[in-house]
Amino acid sequence: PAQTTTPRERTPTRAGRPMSAPVVLEARDLRKALGGREVLAGVDLEIRRGDVCVIIGPSGSGKSTLLRCLNRLLIADQGTILLDDQPFGYRPSGSAIRPEPERHLAERRRRVGMVFQRFELFPHYTALENVVLAPRHFGLVPRAGAREYGLALLRRVGLEQHADKYPHQLSGGQQQRVAIARTLAVEPEVILLDEPTSALDPELVNEVLSVIASLADEGMTMVIVSHEMDFARLVADRVVFMDAGRIIEDGAPDQIFSAPAHQRTQRFLAAIG
Ligand code: ADP
Ligand code: MG
Repeated sequence: PAQTTTPRERTPTRAGRPMSAPVVLEARDLRKALGGREVLAGVDLEIRRGDVCVIIGPSGSGKSTLLRCLNRLLIADQGTILLDDQPFGYRPSGSAIRPEPERHLAERRRRVGMVFQRFELFPHYTALENVVLAPRHFGLVPRAGAREYGLALLRRVGLEQHADKYPHQLSGGQQQRVAIARTLAVEPEVILLDEPTSALDPELVNEVLSVIASLADEGMTMVIVSHEMDFARLVADRVVFMDAGRIIEDGAPDQIFSAPAHQRTQRFLAAIG
């Protein structure tokens, strides 16, 4: 996959990466129960500026729940999420910790973008309208400049010529690329991608992975849940293995794929072949 991009010169993370890049997004001891089960059982994760972190793990291990808590689509039962060292979603009020006002939440959510497995485009808006809706809402672009702004974003994902089509007129791969452009449109600091290619027909996977790889090359900070192991090897600075609501292992791709330290990681990698 993503053969159009060359492997980048990236310093290995965790073990070898200089700790100079600031932490952008950090989870501390995140816990979340759903349906009476502990889905996140104490997750600690640090994402540094420019990191490309790929999360792998068995179905049901809590990967989607973690991403949803990171941008507060879901509220964790316990733990802290820091965005640029500020508590994300809560702020201290006297001695108590109170939920953040909705307008602050919207602004913070803008800074942590999300790309979903099933694209989630607005069906009754064109590709261009899907892309410019949020930046218009946030006042990032004047009405007069909106079309140019949207076209430039669609150009980045190779879809400028499809700007005026509706989602149903686009392939799944094209829809996902529009969804990525839409996420970029509000200038997030971090993008979370939850299995961005797993709803696609196999022949459409590479066009989406190539777009993600080009964002990685541009230095975009990303957390990607993916089962595309070749892709993870190519673009990830870090691979995180989750199982049963916990991070079991967190390291450079070569280390995780070639010499996993934990039996559960070994078993998972063997099972997916
Ligand atoms: P993953 O993305 O790793 O496959 P998820 O985070 O989606 O895992 O889910 C982890 C576990 O939480 C699964 O067992 C799932 O069934 C359960 N779960 C997720 N959402 C809900 C919900 N809204 N209510 C009850 N259980 C849920
Ligand atoms: Mg999931």
